[in-house]
Amino acid sequence: MSKHCENCGCAIRSGYCTNCQGEAYIAFVQAPEMDFSREFMDKAWEQVTGQKNAEQRGANNG
Ligand SMILES: [Zn+2]
Repeated sequence: MSKHCENCGCAIRSGYCTNCQGEAYIAFVQAPEMDFSREFMDKAWEQVTGQKNAEQRGANNG
């Protein structure tokens, strides 16, 4: 049951493209218990949600 990314054609593993969603794959599949940097996690979330941290507490001007 192998699947391939529609964007780059790379293999999808555990629901993540190891290329387009490399950070997400590492952060959520390979090493979910690891303590990644904020920047890394931001990127990982962006890859799974398709958007940057839209909801942020205490955001500046809406
Ligand atoms: Zn891809």
